[in-house]
Amino acid sequence: MIDIEKVQDGKITIIGEKNKEMIEKGGQIPLGIVVEVAGRKMEKDFEPVVERKFHDFINEAQGVWQMGQRDIIWGRISKTAHSEGFRLHHLGTILTTLTKNHYPALIDRVQVTIYLDEEDILKHQEEARKIFIERNERVSNMTDESVDIFYSCTLCQSFAPTHVCVISPERLGLCGAYNWLDTKASYEIDPTGPNQPIQKGETYDAIKGKWRGVDEFIGKASAGKVESFSAYSIMDNPMTSCGCFECIIAVVPEANGVMIVHRGFNGMTPTGMKFSTMAGTVGGGVQTPGFMGVGRYFLTSKKFLLADGGLKRVVWMTKELKNAFKEQLAKRGAEEGVPDLLDKIADEDICTESDKLLEHLQKVGHPALEMAAIL
Ligand code: SF4
Ligand SMILES: [Zn+2]
Repeated sequence: MIDIEKVQDGKITIIGEKNKEMIEKGGQIPLGIVVEVAGRKMEKDFEPVVERKFHDFINEAQGVWQMGQRDIIWGRISKTAHSEGFRLHHLGTILTTLTKNHYPALIDRVQVTIYLDEEDILKHQEEARKIFIERNERVSNMTDESVDIFYSCTLCQSFAPTHVCVISPERLGLCGAYNWLDTKASYEIDPTGPNQPIQKGETYDAIKGKWRGVDEFIGKASAGKVESFSAYSIMDNPMTSCGCFECIIAVVPEANGVMIVHRGFNGMTPTGMKFSTMAGTVGGGVQTPGFMGVGRYFLTSKKFLLADGGLKRVVWMTKELKNAFKEQLAKRGAEEGVPDLLDKIADEDICTESDKLLEHLQKVGHPALEMAAIL
């Protein structure tokens, strides 16, 4: 969101020449899109809401596909779309037009800049990441008990028709782009939109995170496909996944624990599967006990796998995740009585096979080995 005088409505700019040729003949390129909006009623709190909606807008175009959010988006433009005339600047057309159409009361002007050179993109990425952290931290002092209302997100039902994200203060959407405050803001500006309030109702299992009102809501919103939901368990009615998850958590039975792999990690993991293979198992709007897609920030939550032993269940996670949340995870480990937990958790440099993993866990005395069986 910027000053209205700085936005020339409908303006679309493409910056960067390096990859122009590649776009014409097909291939893979880095892409950065900056959407600048202005409007008298627009507020900073609405930025994440509008930004996430771009996912929806872009997927409406025939032959154009987009997955992911924030700075881990992956998109495709099909050869058919290209031969029918779709060009990069049309991404700008979609974004300027649909953003104004969808938020007429909020947004008066939109301009789009598309970056093709990695250097430019990385500069903007740095700027964006600071904002993502600020957004994540806005809810960090709230608890699930402190509110009577959670919010749903059904934005991804366009490709996973039975998927519903249930978003509470201590568990953000699995794409990582929406937290409780964002969905609250989204409901305010779009009362019939994808984020509806869910009256929690009676808490019938505080450890697993189960509420009558939530079950009822999910039943309806999933067309009867999902009957019950546990916010804090990967084993008992875990949340469904659409496909946008930032990370996948999977049970490693041999190690009596779970592993966590982030989107973008292409290597092998101790389940014997890569991210891409697991993603096929987890997605599609079904509950898959033992597997769950989550937003990365959920790893730092006190409600993370509360019913399954919490953070102490984590036996392996990618180095990138360890580094990204070093301080928060160290703090959480200490709160759980294992201050050096992060050092005990294996990563890809230590092992990627389950037998080596077990050796490592025994060597360091990982708490998961002492815990009740996860299966
Ligand atoms: S992943 Fe969940 S929170 Fe994110 S847009 Fe999709 S339905 Fe909404
Ligand atoms: Zn999704």
